[in-house]
This record gives sequence, C-alpha cells and structure tokens, in this order.
Amino acid sequence: MLVRLTDAWQDILARRAANSETGAYPVPVRQLLGEMAAAGVLMQGNIKFNGALVLQIFGDGPVKLGVVEVQPDLSLRATCSQLGEVTEGASLSQLVNVNNEGRCAITLDPQDRLPGQQPYQGVVPLFGDRGEKLENISEVLEHYMLQSEQLDTVLVLAADDQVAAGLLIQRLPVEGEGNLAGKADSVEREAALGQSEDFSRIAILSKSLKREELLTLDAETILHRLFWEEPLARFEPLIGETGPRFACRCNRERVGHMIRSLGTEEVEGIIAEQGQVEVGCDFCGAQYRFDPVDAAGLFTGLPADASGGSVH
Ligand SMILES: [Zn+2]
Repeated sequence: MLVRLTDAWQDILARRAANSETGAYPVPVRQLLGEMAAAGVLMQGNIKFNGALVLQIFGDGPVKLGVVEVQPDLSLRATCSQLGEVTEGASLSQLVNVNNEGRCAITLDPQDRLPGQQPYQGVVPLFGDRGEKLENISEVLEHYMLQSEQLDTVLVLAADDQVAAGLLIQRLPVEGEGNLAGKADSVEREAALGQSEDFSRIAILSKSLKREELLTLDAETILHRLFWEEPLARFEPLIGETGPRFACRCNRERVGHMIRSLGTEEVEGIIAEQGQVEVGCDFCGAQYRFDPVDAAGLFTGLPADASGGSVH
C-alpha cells in the first residue's frame, strides 16, 4: 500500500502556520508528524477499522505529544505540541526520547463504542530489540505490527513541506480471509513454494526506496522502479472524496462538554479572570468562545456527563 498526502498534509501545515501562538512546525517536528500522518493512513487503510485509528507519540523531549487520527473514510487530522527548543536536524530520540521515557501508542476507538467500553490500545517503546534508541518512527511501527498482528511488515516513510508519503508492505496470512489468493494453503506449502523468499526479496526491494524518491515520484514510477521484475496487480487509487483528506471533528457541543468537565468552580475562576472561556482547537485552529451566560448554561438543566473530558 502506498500513500501520498498532498493537499491534506499542506492543509494541516497551513493551519499550524496560521496559529499566531505557535507558528509553523520546526523542520524535524514537521517530518515526524508527516511520517506519522502517512503511517496512520496506511494502517487504517490496511486494517479498515470501523472507528478512529489514533497514532500518538508521548515525548519526554521538546516534543510532548504528537497525534494523528484517521477515520474509516480516511479523513484525518494531526497535531503536535512542542515545548522548548528543537535543534536543527534533531533526531527522533532528541525530539521525544531524551530520557528513555518516550513511547508510542496506537489506539483503535470503535465507532459504536458501548458506554464504559474502553478503546483498544497498544503501547510500544521507542527502543529496538538490542535496547538501542530507535531513530525512525517506521521502525517503531514495524515493531508494533509484528507484535500485534504477527505479520512481517516493512514501512518506508518520508515527509517535507509539500508531501507526506509512505509505503507499507505486509506479508499476508496464507490462510483465511486475509489471503488475497483466496485459497487455503499451509505454511509448509508456502515455504516449499519459495514464498518466504518472495517476501524477503520484496521487503529488501521496498527498503531500497529512498526518501527523495518516495517524496517526488508518483505511484506508477515507484512501483515500476522497485518491482519491475514482479507481476503486479494494482487497485484503483483512492483520490478526492474517497481518499485521505483533512477534516476536523471538533464542534461547540464537544467543547462545551469539556468545559463542563472542569467543574463550576474552575470555570467561574476563568470567567472572573478573563471575562469568558476561550478554547482553541489544536487540530484545525477553530476558536470557541463561551461568555458568562453561555458558560452558566453549560451547568444548568443538564445531567452530569461522565463521558466529557476531551475536546478532541
Ligand atoms: Zn478542530
């Protein structure tokens, strides 16, 4: 699976650049978030989960939190919060794993979640098998997929100020629905047929794809360069309304829930100090303002809401 985010990615960057409080992302942060965005779309496209796939990185360096959320229709939003100086050319570990406490979480939040039901979450450390700090988010996610799905996966990711792109190669199960060939087959038979070698060869070819190629070449050219000796069957690309695009899910009601969850005392304190409650959406930049009357309305005649707590 190959993804190339252009308009969607530029939209995310432009919204951040327009935020007068934060300004644009520094280059290393932009690269990290772009690679996460491409990976999130690939993972959602791959598992086709009926709910949001949320990819998060919790950092202990200048980057505190990176979030990419991809819906089943491939609409997505992404944001990164940064405190402190990001040096030019900062590596992944310098951004998010300075004190060995950085981690990455993948959450699957079902669309029709029952009250009290928790989303599924997998957390992976930012270290390799030999305890070394990983310097590519692709390696972190390859680890996750091998652990969670027991499927060999190769991920190649890249992002600049125009494009966030990725290539995902996954070894499909030989049996069951996951098998594209549609025929039950055995592991021994697969080995006998040399299909293990096939995967290794395709994995090595995929890893030879350079960052620059992934960012600048179209899908046709990339596939031809990598796999010109392989028989290829291509699926229709998903573009426009059927493809990945930026969309934010914030709205006034959700922001109201979040404000209500702060409690009367806290909200009254904010109003006494600032005259109103103002909340900005980190994903799209929308500003929500609640004057004293709006804010008081949040606490009257409404049942206490246990699910509140997050704008996003
Ligand atoms: Zn928003």
